[in-house]
Amino acid sequence: MGIPIVVRCECGSEARGNAGDELTCPGCGRTYETAGVGSEQLRAAANAAVRHKIMTRLGIGVVGLGTILPFFWLGYAGFFVGFAVTAVCWFGVLLPRFKRRSIARITAGDTTRIDAVR
Ligand SMILES: [Zn+2]
Repeated sequence: MGIPIVVRCECGSEARGNAGDELTCPGCGRTYETAGVGSEQLRAAANAAVRHKIMTRLGIGVVGLGTILPFFWLGYAGFFVGFAVTAVCWFGVLLPRFKRRSIARITAGDTTRIDAVR
């Protein structure tokens, strides 16, 4: 999955695409090569994507355990309650909080200046 970026052209228009793409300004036609651009924000976004993937997989494991263990203790009632409680806690509370912190970290990074190729 690409990391979405915005290139603000000298003419004032914005070109949107993914990091690594060659972006053409819709206003004046200048072309910007974004492959290999070392940006603090891009590094933060790439790190956040990896952490998010890990947290999602970990969440599936936690919800699985939080569903199976109550099932053995309390039967089907434990199964459904355990699933609902752990899924809401992890994916409804913990993960959105984690995501907000990741986004704050990305937007705290400096923007990067690149020059038009054409
Ligand atoms: Zn332009």
